[in-house]
Amino acid sequence: MKKIWSRYKETVQKNCTDQELDETQIAYWRNSLFSVTVIYLIPLSVIAIVPGVYMSITTNLPILLAADFLVVSTFLVIAFNGHISVNTKKLMLTASLYVVTVVLLYYLGSFGPGLLYLLSITIFATLIFDIRYAISSVVINLIICIVFALIIYFDWGTGPMNVQYGLNSWIAVSSNVIFMCVVTVLLIPKLFNGLQKAFDNKNRIEKELKLNQAELNKSLDQLEEKNRELVDFAYTISHDLKEPLRMIRSFMGRLKMKYEEQLDEQALKYIHFAMDGAQRMNSLIDDLLEYSRVGRLHFKKEMINLNDLIDEIKQDFNVETGNKKPVITAENLPEIKAVPISIKLLFQNLISNGIKYQNGSRTPEVSISCEATERHWIFKVKDNGIGIPSEYYDQIFNIFKRLHSISEFSGTGMGLAICKKVVTQHGGEIWVESEEGLGSSFYFSLQKN
Ligand code: ADP
Repeated sequence: MKKIWSRYKETVQKNCTDQELDETQIAYWRNSLFSVTVIYLIPLSVIAIVPGVYMSITTNLPILLAADFLVVSTFLVIAFNGHISVNTKKLMLTASLYVVTVVLLYYLGSFGPGLLYLLSITIFATLIFDIRYAISSVVINLIICIVFALIIYFDWGTGPMNVQYGLNSWIAVSSNVIFMCVVTVLLIPKLFNGLQKAFDNKNRIEKELKLNQAELNKSLDQLEEKNRELVDFAYTISHDLKEPLRMIRSFMGRLKMKYEEQLDEQALKYIHFAMDGAQRMNSLIDDLLEYSRVGRLHFKKEMINLNDLIDEIKQDFNVETGNKKPVITAENLPEIKAVPISIKLLFQNLISNGIKYQNGSRTPEVSISCEATERHWIFKVKDNGIGIPSEYYDQIFNIFKRLHSISEFSGTGMGLAICKKVVTQHGGEIWVESEEGLGSSFYFSLQKN
């Protein structure tokens, strides 16, 4: 039974809707309403037919029976014929309802549901048609009411029409029905207009979003491409620069060795500056190469025990700076899945900065800790160094950005840029909080896998 019902529903729905419409069009919903109406009206029309047959027998009016059968057969054609257009089907249904209404009005007068049918047809038409048809239905109602007024006035009829109503009472009753029809036609379309506006807005926003998304994707692709080109460029340039630089250093060295005796103090100083400059240039190129390598040469993620990693790094810093040996502590660090070389570089840079940027009055202390959130590990590398003015919190992560001269602190300005790149490639962020004179805390997050 259930199967038959769902097959029946499916067929009617298919025959009474337009497959080309989509849910953002009012016409789609009007058609859905129409198909649902047809689906339920067919079984429900039995309820109307049984009393119709009874009435037609008791009142000896076979025309009532004929009208009932006209409506039911129209329903059946609408439901099961797949060749007639949906709009024509709607018109057929409305027309058959009008036929029944007129018959009911003529033969049953105020006993029958004729006037109620008039109002129902208008409500129905307002729901399933656009406004032009709804207004037409009010006009048709008006014409029907006027015609019946004439029938009563000129005493043309044979049915109970003339008996039931005097002209005045007909005008009073029917004008109220017309009034309600007008109200219906005025109000219900407002709802549909509002809905249509909402759908239009939704469509427009979706369209704009799609366009923006497409543009964004294009820009992202271009950006990625440019970035790749830039990294490749940096790699090639730094690689190629190393050779002439090596020659400058080696020939300067030879010059110094061979002519040290003949050269005066000034010339030796110049050679020293040239070699020192070449040495710094070499460090810059090394760091630039390191930067371009992050995520390029090494990208395979592995499980890393961070406690072991920090122990390893500690050995490298187990030397005295000034006459103070740095103290590096780490609390309960987790095991994470990440690119080992990159993560080592990250911790190395942050720890070495914590030890380097000191004013010499304190023993350098660097502590490393970690907290877990739902999706990330948040690490903190805290030192007791000179601190960083807040206006530089963002800038220090840029390539070559330094806050001090070489004579104050050695360095290339690449360390934090490398840290940022590593963190970004692990789906995280890096930032700093600091108090000048007291120390800095570098925070970074890494995505858990
Ligand atoms: P480098 O140390 O090679 O100069 P970095 O990129 O590591 O380059 O650091 C950029 C600048 O940020 C440094 O020149 C320094 O002024 C500042 N800085 C970095 N770390 C610290 C720190 N722990 N304490 C104070 N200043 C720091």
